[in-house]
Amino acid sequence: MELLKDKIVVVSGASRGIGKQIALKMAEEGALVYACSRSKADFYGDNILYHELDVTDTASCQKLYEDVLSKHGRVDVLIANAGITRDAMTRKMSEDDFDLVIDTNLKGVFRLIKLFGPLMEEQGYGSIVAMSSVVGEQGNIGQANYAASKAGLIGMCKSFAKEFARKGAQVRVNAVAPGYILTDMVKKVPEDLLKKFADRTMLKRLGEPEEVADLICFLASDKASYITGTVIDVNGGMSL
Ligand code: NDP
Repeated sequence: MELLKDKIVVVSGASRGIGKQIALKMAEEGALVYACSRSKADFYGDNILYHELDVTDTASCQKLYEDVLSKHGRVDVLIANAGITRDAMTRKMSEDDFDLVIDTNLKGVFRLIKLFGPLMEEQGYGSIVAMSSVVGEQGNIGQANYAASKAGLIGMCKSFAKEFARKGAQVRVNAVAPGYILTDMVKKVPEDLLKKFADRTMLKRLGEPEEVADLICFLASDKASYITGTVIDVNGGMSL
C-alpha cells in the first residue's frame, strides 16, 4: 500500500540533498509533491512539480501558498527542510552570517508554517515536519548560528504542535534531528572531521539522505497519527 496516496505535499529545499530524496520517496509513496527551492534541478516529473521558493522572502512563501491552494484547495503535508550553514568560530562569525542562518533556518520555517499551519487547522488535519539537527541538540564548534537556528526550531515546532491542535484539529507538528548525512552541505566539512563524526556514532558511519527521507515519509503519513510535538533523532546513535 502506498503510504502517502493522493496527499498534496510541499517540501522546501528540495532541489538536492535530503529534500530531493524526500520528494522522490514521497512521490513513490503516491503523493503529489511540490518540490520547492530557489534553483531548479532536473528530476521533476508528473508527481514532482517544481515551484520557486526563497524561504527568506515572505512574498515568495505567500505565492507558493496561494498557487498550491488555488490548484488543490488543500495541503496535507508540509516538510520545512530548507536550510543553510555559514560556519565560523564565534570570534570570527559576522553578524550577517549569524542573521542569514537564523533568517533561513528558523524564520524561514516560521514564514511557511505561519501560512500552512492555520490552513491545516481550518482543514482539521495535516502533518508538518521541520528539519532540526543533532547540532541543535548538542551544539557544535564553529556553528553557533546553525545550532541556535536548529534548537530554536524545536521550541517553535512544539509551540505550533500545541497551537494548531488546541481546538481539536488533527494537525501534527514534529521535528527530525539528523546526524551527519552525506549531502553537499556536509561535503564542505574536512574529511578528518567527518571521520570523527562517523566514529562518534554507534553504527560507525555517516547517514544517507534516503535514511532521513524514510523517517519523514512515515511521520508525514497517517501511520504516525498519534505522533506530534516531538523530535526524532536519525543519527546512527550519535546522541548516546
Ligand atoms: P543541501 O545544502 O544539500 O540542500 C539544501 C536545500 O535547501 C537545497 O535544495 C537548497 O536549494 C535549499 N535552500 C537553501 N536556502 C534556501 C532558501 N532561502 N529558500 C529555499 N530553499 C533554500 O542540504 P541538506 O540536504 O544536507 O540539508 C537539508 C536540511 O537538513 C537542512 O535544513 C539542514 O540544516 C538539515 N540537516 C542536514 C544535515 C546533514 O548532515 N546534511 C544534518 C542535520 C540537519 P536552493 O539553493 O536551490 O534554494
